[in-house]
Amino acid sequence: MLKKIGVLTSGGDAPGMNAAIRAVVRKAIYHNIEVYGIRYGYQGLMEGNIKKMDLGSVGDIIHRGGTILATARSQEFKTEEGQQRAIEQLNKWGIEGLVVIGGDGSFRGAQKLTSRGFPCIGVPGTIDNDIPGTDFTIGFDTSLNTVLEAIDKVRDTATSHERTYIIETMGRNAGDLALWAGLAGGAESIIIPEVDEEFSNIIHRLERSRERGKRHSIIVLAEGVGNAFEFSERIKKETGIETRVTVLGYIQRGGSPTAQDRVLASRLGARAVELLIENKSDRMVGIRNNEIVDNDIDDILSGKHHLNKGMYNLSKELSI
Ligand code: ADP
Repeated sequence: MLKKIGVLTSGGDAPGMNAAIRAVVRKAIYHNIEVYGIRYGYQGLMEGNIKKMDLGSVGDIIHRGGTILATARSQEFKTEEGQQRAIEQLNKWGIEGLVVIGGDGSFRGAQKLTSRGFPCIGVPGTIDNDIPGTDFTIGFDTSLNTVLEAIDKVRDTATSHERTYIIETMGRNAGDLALWAGLAGGAESIIIPEVDEEFSNIIHRLERSRERGKRHSIIVLAEGVGNAFEFSERIKKETGIETRVTVLGYIQRGGSPTAQDRVLASRLGARAVELLIENKSDRMVGIRNNEIVDNDIDDILSGKHHLNKGMYNLSKELSI
């Protein structure tokens, strides 16, 4: 019988991580399992920054962005000695399984612990939506809505001043944020790393829409493609068209999680605890077609996240 589990958040924070922590803690306590919160990710784990959690420790956090357990990046944990230190702490506290909420880097860490015989379950939490094995990651929907709100606001100015605006989104090497927000916000062009579009095509579209009398347009550019200011310069050089740049930055990581993210986090967090109860390890929970699934972390880490190309094509058709 499983008696004690631990939970940590690691890597970049994402809205909805708190809802996931809450689900892990409450689901475990529901099954009479003690839960230990580990602060500052793997760094805190190595240092024994560990505290027993109760029902109250996750009260009033479901609507809050960030993570109450705090997060960190740790170089030391990447070393054998660091991982050994982490295992020693887990043993010292009598923790028998660990829920890791984070992105792919965090799952690599979890993989190291499982290879040393310690059971870990991954919960995907990142605004980038760049993890295979799940349609959505926790935080993506909130971030998407933040970007959309920004696009709507910039659109007001774009139409008033008849200008072209470039909005740069986060997403690391994934274009999901830019694509979903661009489609939802009616952007004229969406530029993402997954699609190698000729620069001349983008220019052509811009010029064509000018010819038919359109005086403003919105281009959404994913950070994985490059820098929006350089892109703006290039457009100016080749067409003479002045563009204005808005780099959204860290506002995309904050804020109260949307209903979608809270529900997703609650379902995934609870399922992670169930898997530990079932003696499973090295699995990552995810959502596929609105069903909660779990996959081997090794497969997740060697797999590739696929962006919805159909949606990209649709965005093109709708922005002619
Ligand atoms: P994310 O989980 O958001 O992708 P990072 O890539 O920064 O964030 O990873 C978070 C942490 O996971 C790192 O700081 C490190 O402690 C741990 N980690 C990442 N890669 C490895 C690895 N190959 N081996 C062990 N630990 C790792």
